[in-house]
Amino acid sequence: MRHKIIAGNWKMNNDREETKSLIDSLKSISYPKGIRVMVSPSYVHLSDAVKMVKGYKLEVLAQNMHFLNNGAYTGEVSVKMLKSIGINKVILGHSERRTFYNETDDSLKEKIKIGIENDFEIIFCFGEQLSDRKNGKHFDVIENQLRNPLFHLGSSSWKKIILAYEPVWAIGTGETATPNQVQEIHSFIRGLIKENYSSDLANSISILYGGSVKSKNSKEIFSKNDVDGGLIGGASLDFKEFVQIIESL
Ligand code: PEP
Repeated sequence: MRHKIIAGNWKMNNDREETKSLIDSLKSISYPKGIRVMVSPSYVHLSDAVKMVKGYKLEVLAQNMHFLNNGAYTGEVSVKMLKSIGINKVILGHSERRTFYNETDDSLKEKIKIGIENDFEIIFCFGEQLSDRKNGKHFDVIENQLRNPLFHLGSSSWKKIILAYEPVWAIGTGETATPNQVQEIHSFIRGLIKENYSSDLANSISILYGGSVKSKNSKEIFSKNDVDGGLIGGASLDFKEFVQIIESL
């Protein structure tokens, strides 16, 4: 179902005390009605985080997971492990995972498969490089990033998918896509889903934008018709800034 969502991607930041303190602060405020707020601490703090948010509106998600339940994969974490500590949602396909850990459309397809089998909600990230945009290839790149991992799914599996358009050139760079550029891509994505499935499905999917969203630019981006919220990196580590972003949705 289409929701308004703000999700914080905490990446490899915050030790245990910092994680608890930020979660405590986020628990202390009342969020605007109808908005889902999620945060993604590091794996080592997920168990603490799940216990801390029990009974609160705040949701906790993982930043990644493997595509198998177990095996000889040193350093990896499986869906089964996440499930066993009460996690039921995950970010997949973040550009930092694609760039630094060689995640591909094929491995992401497998991760989505095991996620859906385990009833996980998935924030699926995708987005073009600056060179793609400069060469006018961004629509093709985005279509390909979506087609292989997602377009074989049955309509009912899409209930678990949240999309996050994150142009790589805007992540952590301070450079944000303009509200019109964001709307253009989000509307293109809804069009693809409509073409491959139906308008009902296209209109039921939440599509978030991510890439240097701050409180000073969030309202304008979120005001666009096809933007249902944001995946927030750097600004989600700052309590006041994150709350202002939430309130701007
Ligand atoms: C992200 O990492 O998903 C992100 C959007 O980062 P930032 O907001 O810092 O650009």
